[in-house]
Amino acid sequence: MKGFCFRCRAAVALPGRVGRRDACPSCGWDLHIGLNCTFYEPGAYNDCREPQAERVTVKDRANFCDFFTLRETPPETAPDKGDVKDRLRALFKD
Ligand SMILES: [Zn+2]
Repeated sequence: MKGFCFRCRAAVALPGRVGRRDACPSCGWDLHIGLNCTFYEPGAYNDCREPQAERVTVKDRANFCDFFTLRETPPETAPDKGDVKDRLRALFKD
């Protein structure tokens, strides 16, 4: 499964599905979290586009959601907004 870490924006590739104990190889943060999920949508009911998913209130810690699917697109903005230097650094990283 391939995707991105919401926290450090690193590309993540795992041999199988993301498990609850899997962590980002770059920053060590939990991967099985709402913020990394393809169904995550701020503003939607429960901030989730999957209507059958159980309510998960903590979005940045590992959860038990069976519908978790690692998002394949890079996060657009960091949750803490970061600062300008960080954003510039990210821009010129490649
Ligand atoms: Zn990370």
